[in-house]
Amino acid sequence: MMNLNAAGTALLVAALGAGPTMPALTPYSPISTMVDAVQAPRLKSSVERLVAFGTRNDFSETASTASHGVFGARNWIAQQFEAIAATAGGRMSVSLDTYVQRKTLRTPRSVRESSVIATLRGTAPGRVYLMSSHYDDCDGRCTDGAGTAPGADDNGSSVAAVLEAARVMAPTRFRGTIVFACFDGEELGLWGSDHYARELAARKVPVLAVLNDDIIGNSVGGDGASEPNVIRVFSEGIPSGADIARINLVGSENDSPSRELSRFIAEVVPVYVPGLSVRQIFRADRFMRGGDQESFQAVGYSAAVRFVESHENFTHQHQDVRVENGVQYGDLPQYIDAQYLRRATQANVAALATLALGPSAPTGVRMELKRLGYDTTLQWKPVAGAVSYEVVWRRTDAPQWENASNVGDVTQATVPVSKDDFVVGVRSVDSNGLRSPAVYPAAVRE
Ligand SMILES: [Zn+2]
Repeated sequence: MMNLNAAGTALLVAALGAGPTMPALTPYSPISTMVDAVQAPRLKSSVERLVAFGTRNDFSETASTASHGVFGARNWIAQQFEAIAATAGGRMSVSLDTYVQRKTLRTPRSVRESSVIATLRGTAPGRVYLMSSHYDDCDGRCTDGAGTAPGADDNGSSVAAVLEAARVMAPTRFRGTIVFACFDGEELGLWGSDHYARELAARKVPVLAVLNDDIIGNSVGGDGASEPNVIRVFSEGIPSGADIARINLVGSENDSPSRELSRFIAEVVPVYVPGLSVRQIFRADRFMRGGDQESFQAVGYSAAVRFVESHENFTHQHQDVRVENGVQYGDLPQYIDAQYLRRATQANVAALATLALGPSAPTGVRMELKRLGYDTTLQWKPVAGAVSYEVVWRRTDAPQWENASNVGDVTQATVPVSKDDFVVGVRSVDSNGLRSPAVYPAAVRE
């Protein structure tokens, strides 16, 4: 147990008065090496190869050896993963998650679905992190497998990113297991991710974070807006099945596992990708749109976020390829900014590598509620691989953690911060200076 002495308290109070005091994170060189290894030309060529299948619409299926259609594309993705697995020292396996999707009101018939999954096994049990994309695509109608559907940005960009992340990360031994997923059937109802997430949940696989990428390769919006050094991360507020009365009582409505993951990503990415900033969007997804992160949230894997480019161009998504009134429609590869896609991929690699190499987040985090008081006491369970812990806090109306105090290798700490006025959490720190995402405490009245 740790209680700050008078000098420590004075320091903290002084720090509070001086404004935000988050530690300046420094890059951990093995992660920098992986991030720097991400190559724009390779990303571009993956997107172009996927586009060359003509369409990856689910109803375009032909033989998996064909150079046209969704089966050929899935086969090509699996081949890429197999080649990457050969560099992983026997730790990576590649599989298809296959099932028959029944006809729905929207679709003409039943169809065979196969998500392509590469799993890079870590050394520590109980920790699985997922980076995902979808490889199916749409023209203007979505159920017309006969049309041309290039799907460069939606979502060839993210399939290229997942393959590239797997390439640069495969040779490294991680503590956590990393799943690189290219889902099928996203466009018609999140089919592939729904099937896979349910399967993981049934096997009680401990998925601690999901980074879902969908539309990450274009840097100029349809309205001309462009912020090539910003990527958006969407996170849901209230997890499905949450006890809303309880959330209201303890004021944790802005501290869902997805939000803590979002804050973690926003802090880590600029450390490894200088000049790139993460715009946290505190919303499950864009209006009238959704993504595969929802399939994980729906089965209780609550820490799931979506990466998406800073400004979208809707004339290049879900459109038949055509020129109309001098305007080019269609999700064509010439609108991919390979340098932007590189930065988006690097953001994923930085966050994913920090999650899987660093310490787990603390569990069993509780806030003591024994009496009215002017400070905050937290307790948690020790984390394997952690050498110390940081208590973090922020004003209730601040988006990001503003202050941190390293309280040492302890499982209880009291900080001179009013729990009434601040949001307080705790995170693990390892010997390489890597931090876990922070955890919002359960309030326990004893
Ligand atoms: Zn998409």
